[in-house]
Amino acid sequence: MKYHVDGELVPAAEATVSVEDRGFQYGDAVFETMRAYGGSIFEWEAHAERLANSCDALGIDHGCTDTELRERVRETLAANSLADAYVKLSISRGVQGGKLTPQSDADPTVVVIVDELPRGGVDGVDVWDEPAVVQTTKTRRVPDSAIPADAKTHNYLNGILARRELVEGADEALLRDADGRVAEGATSNVFFVGDDGLHTPSLGGPVLPGITRSVVIELAESAEIPIHEGRYTPDDVRNAEEAFLTNTTWELRPIETLDGIAVGGGPVTDLLSRLFDERVERRHYGGDTA
Ligand code: PMP
Repeated sequence: MKYHVDGELVPAAEATVSVEDRGFQYGDAVFETMRAYGGSIFEWEAHAERLANSCDALGIDHGCTDTELRERVRETLAANSLADAYVKLSISRGVQGGKLTPQSDADPTVVVIVDELPRGGVDGVDVWDEPAVVQTTKTRRVPDSAIPADAKTHNYLNGILARRELVEGADEALLRDADGRVAEGATSNVFFVGDDGLHTPSLGGPVLPGITRSVVIELAESAEIPIHEGRYTPDDVRNAEEAFLTNTTWELRPIETLDGIAVGGGPVTDLLSRLFDERVERRHYGGDTA
């Protein structure tokens, strides 16, 4: 595998950054996890916009144009002959010795790593197609007032600590905000279906504006499924007719159980999954240039 580090394609084993890099020292970095289908990035513009927001929140000026970033991603995919892939683009503030306060002279580090992520899974088996076993954790989501939730930073300790709580067999943590309302998964957004339509926690709380989340909302609107963004308790999800998680890698993933209580997918989850697949098919494999 070859990765892109500061403008150079290098073999994975030689793809290193300095131990003085602030991304390593303090988590002073931002990133995007993206998915390539048929050689092009799903929702590049939305990822680029979220990345720009993350950089703005931290005051990181990476100095690359949108075209340059996109080209580095394209080159990394091409160097590894990958069309269907996991793509992670990370930007740290760069090397700066010894002081917590960021200085203005740092030279940001820009890294692209990729991995094979075949559509439909390897040999037809896609682990993410398995419904998720989800557990509400004691670890609460860091408040938006401490670390802005719409900045996707390298500071993932919150999610890591939540995942460390998971009992054997559980796949994803459900994190609540400081008031006990559902925020999101460690790496996913949460949706559930009631008799009045689709629900998801609103972005005012500590919830990452997931790219998949916004596509699912758009698809629900196009299918005339009423969509509500609000504040919910874990009981709302446990008692729902259907519930699912979303993220770039998993797409839509039904919640099989939450805290041992069966929820599962159903007709709305199936419809939205089908619409999602059709959109990927149309835009990435069907010659539609959108
Ligand atoms: N919330 C968190 C905390 C995440 O890390 C992710 C994965 N990036 C998501 C939600 C889902 O976001 P997306 O749909 O953009 O992958």
